[in-house]
Amino acid sequence: MGKKQKYIFVTGGVLSGVGKGVTAASIGAVLQAKGAKVSIQKCDPYLNVDAGLLNPREHGECFVTRDGAETDLDLGHYERFLDIELTQKSATLSGKLLFDLIADERAGKFGGKTVQLVPHLTQSIQRAILSAADGSDIHIVEIGGTVGDYEGLSFIEAIREFSQRVGRSNCLFVHVVYVPFINTSKEFKSKPAQNALNDLRGFGIVPDAVVVRSDDPAPNSIVKKISLFSGVPEENVLLMSNADTVYRVPILLAKSSISKLLSNFSGLKNRPNLSAWKNIVDQQTSKPKQSITVGLVAKYIDNEDTYMSVIEALKSAAWHEKVGLSIRWINAEKATNNDFKKVDAIVVPGGFGERGIEGKIAAARYALDNNVPYLGLCLGLQVAVIAAVRKAGHMDANTNEVNPKCKHNVVYIMEGQAGKESTGGTLRLGDYPAKLVKGSLAAKMYGHTKIIERHRHRYEVNQKFLPEIIKGGLLVSGLSPDGKLVEFIEAPGNDYFIATQAHPEFRSRPLRPHSLFVGIIKASRMKLK
Ligand code: GLN
Repeated sequence: MGKKQKYIFVTGGVLSGVGKGVTAASIGAVLQAKGAKVSIQKCDPYLNVDAGLLNPREHGECFVTRDGAETDLDLGHYERFLDIELTQKSATLSGKLLFDLIADERAGKFGGKTVQLVPHLTQSIQRAILSAADGSDIHIVEIGGTVGDYEGLSFIEAIREFSQRVGRSNCLFVHVVYVPFINTSKEFKSKPAQNALNDLRGFGIVPDAVVVRSDDPAPNSIVKKISLFSGVPEENVLLMSNADTVYRVPILLAKSSISKLLSNFSGLKNRPNLSAWKNIVDQQTSKPKQSITVGLVAKYIDNEDTYMSVIEALKSAAWHEKVGLSIRWINAEKATNNDFKKVDAIVVPGGFGERGIEGKIAAARYALDNNVPYLGLCLGLQVAVIAAVRKAGHMDANTNEVNPKCKHNVVYIMEGQAGKESTGGTLRLGDYPAKLVKGSLAAKMYGHTKIIERHRHRYEVNQKFLPEIIKGGLLVSGLSPDGKLVEFIEAPGNDYFIATQAHPEFRSRPLRPHSLFVGIIKASRMKLK
C-alpha cells in the first residue's frame, strides 16, 4: 500500500461497554484480511497510571502484555482478533501521561513556560499515538469512555489536532453509538445517538462512519435518521445488533458497506479473506455431539469479564477439539468436594489475597486425588503445591500471602523481593523464559523445552520444600533458566494435572488455542465415555 501511514479513531457515544473494543479490533481484522499491517492502541482517560490496581470485579481482567504492561481487557480483544503481541505503547492512560508530564515539569524541561492540558497534554497524547503506530500501515486508536466525558476531553481534542497534523484524509473517524429499545412504546430511540454525534461535532470531528449498536436488530429508519442528523452518508451508518459471537463481527463488517469505506481509505481494494473466522464461528455455533463441563474455581463469580482470557482460551480449545463447553462457576469461598464432583475438569485461575484460597487448595487436592484433569494458572500452581505438601502431612502448609508466619511456607517472597508487597508496579510482569524437563507433560504439551510465557505475580514456590512437594505427588517440570524459580509443576500419577506460574491464557488465540488449554479439554474429552 501507499507510503503514507493511516489512522483510524474509534470513539463512543451514549454508553460505554457496548462493544467499542470489539468494533475496533474487528475493523483491524478486516484490514488485516485485506493485507494491511495493523497496529492498535487503547487510550483510557482514567487518572490511573496503569490497570494493575483496578478492581477486576468492576473493571474486568487485567491483561498483561509481553513487556509487562498491566492493561485493560480490551488489549486482550485486540491480541485475540489480530493475533499480534502488543506492548506498553498500546495502553495509554491519562494518569501515565500526566505523571510523565509533571515529572518533566519538575525536571525543568519546560523552560519556565506554563504547562497546560492544551497544548502539552494533547501533544503528549499525539506523541503516544505516533509512537504506538510505528511500523504499521494502519494504526487504530480506541478512545475509552464516551465523548463528552469530562476526563476524556483532552483525548478528543488531541485526535482532532492529530488529524490536522497528519491530514484529514489519512484519518478515519468511527463513532460507535447505542440505540435503546423502549419497551412501553415498542420503538428504537435514536435521540441519544443524535446527541452523541452532536457532541462529537461540537469538538470539531465529523465522523466518517457510525456503528449503531443495539440489543436487537434496529430498522433501517434509524439509519436514515442518524445519517440526516449527523451528516454521515447512509451507506456509512452501520446497524450492528448483538451478534451471537463476537468473532462474527469481522465477518459482518466485511460484508457491510463499511468494507468499501475501509478499501477506499486504505487503498486495499481486494476482498478480505475471512474464512478462518467463518470456521471459528461455524464451530462455535454448531451443536457438538459431546460436551464437557469445566469448573472454574473463582472469587469473582459469574463475571466473565474478570476471567476473560481464561474463558476465551477454554472456549477456543473446545472449538479446536470440536466439543461443547460449559463453564461451571465454583465459588472458591464455599467450594466443597460436592462441587468438584459435578465437573469434568478443574481450572484454578490467577488471584490475589486470602479470600477463597482454601476452596482453591481443596479444588487442587480433589483433582490430585481423583485424577480429574487440572490446569492451574499462577495462583492455581501455588495452591496445587500447598495441596501436595498438606497431602504429605504438613497441614499448616500455606503461602505467605495468606499466612506470613506459617512454618511450611511453600509459597513465599524470595529474598531481595521482600518489602514491595503493597504498591503498584512491583510484580514480576511480562515475558519470562522457562526450561521444561525433557519427557515431562509440560514439554509434551509445548512440543519443546524452551518456552516463554507472560507473568503477573509476586510470590514463588519455596524450593526448600521440594521433598515434601514430591512426596505429595507433584514434580517440578519447568524452572527459570537459572533454576531459581519454579515455573511448572505436574502430577506424574495423573492423566492431566499441570500448573504454571505464568498466564498462558494471554497468549492463546481463537485461531491458535494454547496447548495447555487444548490439553485439558482433550484429556477431559477422553475421559467422557
Ligand atoms: N497472588 C499470587 C502472587 O502474587 C498469584 C498471582 C496470580 O495468580 N496472578 O504470587
